[in-house]
Amino acid sequence: MVIGVLALQGAFIEHKKMIESLGISCIEVRQAKDLEKIDGIILPGGESTVQGLLLKKHNIFEPLQKKIMEGLPVFATCAGLILLANEIEGDSSHYLGTLPVKIKRNAYGRQLGSFTTYQPFEDCSDFPLIFIRAPYISSISKDIDVLVENKGNPVAVRYKNQVAMAFHPELSENNKLHQYFIEKVVAQTLSPIV
Ligand code: GLN
Repeated sequence: MVIGVLALQGAFIEHKKMIESLGISCIEVRQAKDLEKIDGIILPGGESTVQGLLLKKHNIFEPLQKKIMEGLPVFATCAGLILLANEIEGDSSHYLGTLPVKIKRNAYGRQLGSFTTYQPFEDCSDFPLIFIRAPYISSISKDIDVLVENKGNPVAVRYKNQVAMAFHPELSENNKLHQYFIEKVVAQTLSPIV
């Protein structure tokens, strides 16, 4: 199994370290041909506007969108969630648009722009949620699974091959969400249990 991390902009090194901490190889994706070498991809946090422009400039946008629609497992954090969302409040366009959620960018305001809180995720009662100028998930389609909630709002979701979260698990010491992606999404795609 090889995981790719989109390395055009943003916090990609930290994801690479998390994946490697699980004993899985991780390569940096910078060109469309790198997509052929991987079994799953991470879209890191950073600045979605810049990432969207760079994806187009380096001709990765369309091949990546096609791969995700064909089932390539994707794990997206913060700006990555914005790239996947099919609706962005106050914006008539979207980026990849493969995930049926509506988001609002930079929705926590200046004062609350960055904060850490803890919520349950699977058997972990205090999974760390590090928010940095995070998008807010304002609505989700019915067939989406909510993996983590904060104050009753979804902050990590799964839709088929796509896992996306508003916070930054790669900046914590806890690799459980990355492990979930590897075991429950990527491994299942490689050898599905029937
Ligand atoms: N606010 C950023 C954006 O709109 C996302 C911030 C992040 O990835 N930490 O792209």
